[in-house]
Amino acid sequence: MTHILKKIDVNNFSKIFRRYKHHKEHWSVLKKKNKGKDKALEHFDDFYKSVYGSSWEKIREAMLIENNKHVAIVNNFSDHEAIAEKLSLLGAMNLKSLYEIHKKNYEERIKSRASETTSNKIYKMNQPVEMILQNQRQSELQSIFPESYHVPDQLLAQKEDKKKYHPDSDDDDDDELLKSKNIMDPVQLRSMEENVKVHQDENRIIKSSVGLTSSCLYEYVPATKLKGLDDYVLESDHYGHYAQGADFSAKIEKEAILNIPEYLKIYTFESGNDSRFPSPRRVHYDVYDYYLMDGCSILPVLALDLQMGDTVLDMCAAPGGKSLAMLQTLMTYILVANDSSQSRSRHMNEVFQDYLGDFDAWKEKLFLTRHDARAIEDKHIYNKILVDVPCTTDRHNLHADENNIFSPTRVKERLRLPELQTEILLQALKIVAPGGTVVYSTCSLSPVQNDGVVQMALKKCSEEMESVMIVKNLDEALAPLRFIYKFATNCGLKYGHVAIPTKNNNWGPMYFCKIVKLP
Ligand code: SAM
Repeated sequence: MTHILKKIDVNNFSKIFRRYKHHKEHWSVLKKKNKGKDKALEHFDDFYKSVYGSSWEKIREAMLIENNKHVAIVNNFSDHEAIAEKLSLLGAMNLKSLYEIHKKNYEERIKSRASETTSNKIYKMNQPVEMILQNQRQSELQSIFPESYHVPDQLLAQKEDKKKYHPDSDDDDDDELLKSKNIMDPVQLRSMEENVKVHQDENRIIKSSVGLTSSCLYEYVPATKLKGLDDYVLESDHYGHYAQGADFSAKIEKEAILNIPEYLKIYTFESGNDSRFPSPRRVHYDVYDYYLMDGCSILPVLALDLQMGDTVLDMCAAPGGKSLAMLQTLMTYILVANDSSQSRSRHMNEVFQDYLGDFDAWKEKLFLTRHDARAIEDKHIYNKILVDVPCTTDRHNLHADENNIFSPTRVKERLRLPELQTEILLQALKIVAPGGTVVYSTCSLSPVQNDGVVQMALKKCSEEMESVMIVKNLDEALAPLRFIYKFATNCGLKYGHVAIPTKNNNWGPMYFCKIVKLP
């Protein structure tokens, strides 16, 4: 034996052995690696880069951090004043107060820009162009600082230095601020198709055996591509429905004001402050003091613009965060919180008990139902409907392997999402009372699940119903929120708004779109 071993070149042997240690491309290594969350990241890199361009790297970096930034919603059914004080002492600030201040600054900025433009025309004709540009830039920069603050001259010269003075600014933010004057311009319809260039990739081939019938894919895959592809359907083709409905254009109207309800007390840490709120505690009346939710989750609720006496339906409500926030406005006359899932509905019931206390007191104001939202037929009862649909929950799926919608076993379900989302939204548009509002939302960056679904639902609506739907362009209303929220630009959005995660405010993503049915 020793004799034989001596004859073997051990170094060589170990080399050979190492060579056969599975290479990173080996199927067993890939199988181990290709769990749901790896698949999710692969999918996002493949798709979102082509949609969000150079911004994708920053969004990706933020989303790969598991702990998202929260806001705390004060529970009005407890000792709300003491809770608000406690949150202030933690260093958190009331979003409504901040919004009002920034709105005032923003309005003054717009006013002064308008008067500047006129006076520039009259007496600045002889000024060197450079000076005019510098003055303009000075007033734009000044507008993002408190009124009393003098913007240092070097800030104008050194774009890079601005991070020192405005923690949330990166190049994109700055460009966005400089572009903000466009908010007052007429709405431009942009082509979505040209922003969604998904390249054919052999790795993204789906076996037809997953059971996607041509009728199911009818709206999402061009028929010409399906022909002859008996065994396989390209996943990239799945996005072909952008081309469909391109002939359809919805009516879009600007909306200038975002009303943050008086009693909805949303507390947030300032931009760049990633402190975490302590876990909620039961204090008075045996209910919790505040509810923590992702900072972007409140945006669809705000977009719904609740008014006193509204009759509200939350079509996909569990675990109940947004419904609870709506109840905290103290404005809803009736709120129906619906969800088709039994386990999630149970969870929602617990949330309401934890925050609302005496459940009996709510028996004529709050109803929990468990229907498939597509089958809710209560026509013209609700004047506000929230449609927070099941989606690819992008951030969550980058961090969870269990039950991940990107896992190979759930391909069929994932590809059917846009169809399900469209059907749910269409039903909301059908049943909402004339003059009522529907807000559609997802926590995905996917333009297919976002504007794509809105476009399909509006198109079907126009074919099947007499009613006229108006999409609300909230750019101007949301502008004062940009001190803390970043809304994606240049990603081909036609209808809704996407709040994206950033290093300084790592919450979201959240897409939302406000649609009003004309009376
Ligand atoms: N709005 C909730 C909140 O803020 O806490 C989150 C809703 S979650 C994004 C989507 C919900 O839709 C899930 O709870 C899921 O059970 C529900 N759902 C899925 N398909 C549904 C359907 N066809 N009808 C009603 N609800 C559905």
